[in-house]
Amino acid sequence: MSIQMTHRAGPETKSSGSSAAFPEVAEPELRRVQDTIITWFEEAARDLPWRHPNTSAWAILVSEIMSQQTPVSRVEPRWRAWMDRWPTPADLAAASTAEVLHAWDRLGYPRRALRLQEAAEVIAADLDNQVPETTEELERLPGIGSYTAAAVSSFAFGRKTTVLDTNVRRVLIRLFAGRERPTTSPGRKETAWASGFVPEDKHVEWNAGVMEFGALVCTARNPDCPACPLQDICTWNQLGRPASATKPKTQKWAGTDRQLRGAIMDVLKAAHAAGDDRHGVSLDVFTTSVTDFDPTLAESLAESTAAAVARVRELSADKDRISRLITDLVTDGLAQQIDGRLALPNR
Ligand code: SF4
Repeated sequence: MSIQMTHRAGPETKSSGSSAAFPEVAEPELRRVQDTIITWFEEAARDLPWRHPNTSAWAILVSEIMSQQTPVSRVEPRWRAWMDRWPTPADLAAASTAEVLHAWDRLGYPRRALRLQEAAEVIAADLDNQVPETTEELERLPGIGSYTAAAVSSFAFGRKTTVLDTNVRRVLIRLFAGRERPTTSPGRKETAWASGFVPEDKHVEWNAGVMEFGALVCTARNPDCPACPLQDICTWNQLGRPASATKPKTQKWAGTDRQLRGAIMDVLKAAHAAGDDRHGVSLDVFTTSVTDFDPTLAESLAESTAAAVARVRELSADKDRISRLITDLVTDGLAQQIDGRLALPNR
C-alpha cells in the first residue's frame, strides 16, 4: 500500500551540536522509516478497545494513565470495567475515593488513581466535563505530564504532537543513533529531534505506529531484528547490536517497600469490599508482634481481609517498617487513619 506524505519535517541538523547523540537523518531514509512504520501499523496494530472509533477523549485519557508502567493485558479488563462504571469525568469526580482505589485493583502505583480523580474533578467543574484538546491545557490537569498530554491530544483529537514514550525513544535511538537504549528521560534536544520524525499528515498513525513497533518488534530485551522491516538501515543492527555500557535499572519487587505497601493496600481494599471498612481495620493487626498478636483480631475480619492481613505479616515482621509505610500511605492520600484504625480514604 502506498502512503502519500505531503510534507515531512526533518530531524534537527548537526549544527545543533548534538549530532553524535541525535544525528541528522537524510530525507529518503526518513521517508522510508515513516512509510514502513505506518504501513506496518496498519497491518499489525493490536485491536485495543481504546483504539476503536468513537472512543471518547476521556476513555483515551484513562487508558493512557492506566497504561503507564502497566502492561496492556492487565489494563484492558480494568479499563473496560472502569469505563462502564464512570463513563465521563463527572461520574468519576462524584465517586468515593475508596471505590476508585478499590476499582484500580492491582494496576499498581495507585496514586495515579487519585490524580486521575483529581483531573476528573477539574474537567467536570471547570471545563464543562470536556477533556481539553491541546497539550498546554492537558498539562495543566493534575497528574498529566508531557507524554500523556501529547498522546491524548494526538489519539483523541488528531492534533499533531510528538508522542515520546520509552518505546518510541528506543526505536529512534537504535535506528539512527546506534545505541541500545535511550537515557532515563528525554531532554529538550531529544524531544526536538524526535519531533522532526513526525509527518505533517498521518501523524496520528506515526505516533501510534512507532510506539506499537517498540512494544511489539523493537522491544527492550528481545528485539526481533531478523523479522524487522527496517533491519537493513538500522544503525544499531548494522553495528552488531552492541550492549549499552550501563545496565538498565530493573525494578525489583520482592522484598521492597512497594511490595509491602501494596500488601497493606490489599488489606484495605479487601476490608472495603467486605464492608469492614466503615470503622477501618485496627492498626494492631499490622503492628503487634507475632508473640503478642491476639488471634481474635483476625477472627473479627472477613476471610478475605484476614488472608490479606496474613500476607502482610508474612512479608514483614518489622513493625517499625510497617508503621512507616502506613504513615506514607496516609500522607499520600491513599489511606486514612482514625482512632487507631486504618481504612481507604472516605471522600
Ligand atoms: S533492526 Fe532490530 S533494533 Fe533495529 S529497529 Fe529493527 S527491531 Fe529495532
